[in-house]
Amino acid sequence: MSSDERTFRELGLSENLLRALDDLGYEKPTPIQSASIDPLMAGKDILGQAQTGTGKTGAFALPLLNSVDQKLNAPQILVLAPTRELAVQVAEAFGSYAKHMKGFHVLPIYGGQSMHQQLSALRRGPQVVVGTPGRVMDHMRRGTLKLDSLKALVLDEADEMLKMGFIDDIEWVLEHKPADSQLALFSATMPEQIKRVANKHLSDPVHISISTTNSTVESIDQRFVQVSQHNKLEALVRVLEVENTEGIIIFVRTRNSCVELAEKLEARGYASSPLHGDMNQQARERAVEQLKRGKLDILIATDVAARGLDVERIGHVVNYDIPYDSEAYVHRIGRTGRAGRTGMAILFVTNREMRMLRTIERATSSRISPMKVPSPETVAERRLSRLGEQIQETINGDLDFMKNAVAELCQQLEIDTDLLAAALLQQVQSERPLQLPAIQERQRDSRDSGRDRDNGRERPRRDSRGGRPLPTSFGSAEGLKDKPDVKMCRYVIEVGRDNGVGVGNIVGAIANEANIDSQFIGQIQLFDQVTSIDLPDGMPKDVLTHLRKVRVCGKPLNIREAGDTPFPEQSDRPRRPRNDRPRGDRPRGDRPRGDRPRNDRPRKPRDSE
Ligand code: AMP
Repeated sequence: MSSDERTFRELGLSENLLRALDDLGYEKPTPIQSASIDPLMAGKDILGQAQTGTGKTGAFALPLLNSVDQKLNAPQILVLAPTRELAVQVAEAFGSYAKHMKGFHVLPIYGGQSMHQQLSALRRGPQVVVGTPGRVMDHMRRGTLKLDSLKALVLDEADEMLKMGFIDDIEWVLEHKPADSQLALFSATMPEQIKRVANKHLSDPVHISISTTNSTVESIDQRFVQVSQHNKLEALVRVLEVENTEGIIIFVRTRNSCVELAEKLEARGYASSPLHGDMNQQARERAVEQLKRGKLDILIATDVAARGLDVERIGHVVNYDIPYDSEAYVHRIGRTGRAGRTGMAILFVTNREMRMLRTIERATSSRISPMKVPSPETVAERRLSRLGEQIQETINGDLDFMKNAVAELCQQLEIDTDLLAAALLQQVQSERPLQLPAIQERQRDSRDSGRDRDNGRERPRRDSRGGRPLPTSFGSAEGLKDKPDVKMCRYVIEVGRDNGVGVGNIVGAIANEANIDSQFIGQIQLFDQVTSIDLPDGMPKDVLTHLRKVRVCGKPLNIREAGDTPFPEQSDRPRRPRNDRPRGDRPRGDRPRGDRPRNDRPRKPRDSE
């Protein structure tokens, strides 16, 4: 991809969109955005090869929103996405980009959500609908989703939709879209069937792919840490404590996260400063100078601001947010390993960004090795040894007065010096405790998801009770394909309709916080005070402990196995009686079709109506 240096304004986006981008702290278009915005605004079809992390949502949402007619209450953009989480995420992105567009509505629709709710939301005439293929097709068949005013259709993560068995549904939707509407197809990979769909339905498309510039990176030790968004800060702080760091640059995506992270690190006692494009030249130069002279240890930077930065003292580059393409990666990590020194580059990746990691490895012909978040024990050891060093320095000074004070305190409190020393240590360590809680997340240090290394041998992951193997991976469609026998277990969570919760919130929280792909989330029933949810049997204990504390709509989930306890149906009935739902014409929902035996597959979530 060519390096297009135009700003969002120069790309011709409307004032409303520019304002929203400014609110979000986006400084410049990502490469995929620079390449897609022109052709999509010009009404062309595009075929984009890009994965999560490249900014692809903005790449189609921004140019398509530019031509949305806010006064027309009818679907003008339809996005098909493989999963409910992605549909919700994409809808949220549309919502945030369009926040200054008066009268704008976006609606995510997916199987498992109340049909009744969807019908009334569709009647309001959202300009953008983002849905999973099966549910979109159901609504089109019922005539509740009409595409007469459709300007553009986007297939997002087409290869994932294919894997999930949605190909026929996609074909069906494509055949029913207005002939003069635009089509954009995004896919991380281009399997034969996707190429076929592309050839058949795209008209003279512009091909776009993210950069694969081959550049090698030597003298830099490259690592990656797999961590959820939620745990990134804690993981970063631990890495900072354990690594022998000199100057550090931490890369983030937006100006807002730059400022936020700098504040959080400052609050934790790190001499750090933001470095972003909105700071004036003088302020930027001052920050860089301070880093050079050792007055600052950490700069938290955006790509724009760190351009051309050359500071010998930088021993570490941390990619807190994954870069948009391999070119940006090479550029970022090139800030370390300068002047013949060795450097270390640490990349934080979420599960969904693992594919991007592989792309970067291929493009840079280098291996990025896995690295574990330092354990609480390692951090504690480090803190203790640092404390020891500080004490050693203090011992070198004059301590006569303090020795007398110790004797007096021991006498006054009737304790011995050991106890006094322990109590004082307790006070001293309160800011940086020597006993840390574990990060509640499954760490995978192996490159093969779902396998642990055991003295070099690989063994299948087991559940916390040492029982039968868990699904190969909670996080991939492949996992279920190979494991058609996933047993489900019913859980109760202490959040219900009265808290304003919806199925989408619950699926989103569980999928993200427990790293469970939505296909492993079974039936969900909302009640006033609680919700029942079916999840794979044998969930690791640490995942459950973490989930218990996760808050949705301001309330901790407090998840527990339902067991034999009478289910709330008696005391806490769903608001609408079950027979309210016409069984006969119940929509099929978004049930992926394919190679899995039906009776053994976890049931798809279904909101009780
Ligand atoms: P995506 O690849 O669409 O999933 O986007 C990944 C992340 O990048 C999201 O958190 C976006 O908010 C963020 N993002 C997208 N475009 C930009 C941009 N131009 N500048 C900064 N962040 C962006």
